[in-house]
Amino acid sequence: MRKVLAFDLGGTKFAFGVVNEDGSVLGSGRVETHAEKGPAQACDRVAAEAHKLLDELKLKPADFVAIGVASPGPLDISRGCVDGSPNLPGWTGYSITEALSKSFGGLPARIDNDCNAAALGEFRFGAGKGKKNVVYITVSTGIGGGAVIDGRLMRGSNGNAAELGHIPLTMDGPRCGCGNLGCWEVYASGTAIARRAREALAAGRTSSLTVLAGGAEHVTTHHILQAVAQGDALSKEIWEQSINYLGRGLGAVINTFNPDVIVVGGGVTAAGDTLFVPMRQSANSYAFPRLSAVCTIVPAGLGGNVGVVGAAACAFEHVG
Ligand SMILES: [Zn+2]
Repeated sequence: MRKVLAFDLGGTKFAFGVVNEDGSVLGSGRVETHAEKGPAQACDRVAAEAHKLLDELKLKPADFVAIGVASPGPLDISRGCVDGSPNLPGWTGYSITEALSKSFGGLPARIDNDCNAAALGEFRFGAGKGKKNVVYITVSTGIGGGAVIDGRLMRGSNGNAAELGHIPLTMDGPRCGCGNLGCWEVYASGTAIARRAREALAAGRTSSLTVLAGGAEHVTTHHILQAVAQGDALSKEIWEQSINYLGRGLGAVINTFNPDVIVVGGGVTAAGDTLFVPMRQSANSYAFPRLSAVCTIVPAGLGGNVGVVGAAACAFEHVG
């Protein structure tokens, strides 16, 4: 079976894996990125660790058809570079694909936005398998998205399509990391949900959250869900608002892409049915009925492997 070498670059960790054409992971590992020390040292160390894995698996670069890299955007995918990513300062202009290709016998290498790669991974190997139109959304510290439409990953003009977390929900909302006001992710990401609870506590609302979290400043979505289960009024209110915000954005996604399935991943999905059941209802209420009728909203299928398997899906697509 054909194999690729896949890399999942993040601000804190740089993961890698050997992935078969059926999406199975033969082996994997990770190094610390130490992003502030620049790209060359990170690429060198991840390549050295990946070579160790290849030795363990008794494989050599010639046993692979390609290299795939998933990275936070924005990217210059034609040059294989990060292009102004806030979590990777000083990396702009360094060709990650060129460096990794050189380390592995000149294998063809391509880079894609991590959420776009995840979308292709879920489409090919995960919860979107067998469907033609798959949108992937991750709800964690931010909200990211990727779309596979008519069986093809939508990359857009320069590889940065489907920045869905920055759909503007309101004109005057909180300021987003992107500089604009009222983006979807400043209301509905895991970070935003916890922030809204902390703001309510700071404004004098009482809640069991303060005790559960060991102080208002430590409140996370995990505590909010615990408090919801215990009947805490403020947490219920925050959670219902969050479902509404999530549904609004998903309604926009349904109306924009007319997908067969929206695959939702990220830390917040640990809530399971407490999230998915009302979120589906909310999303449908904001979408055209003809579009929502054909769209299911399901949890991600690739779990913690999504980065590496997504990068692998992009590499397989690259070599055809
Ligand atoms: Zn934004």
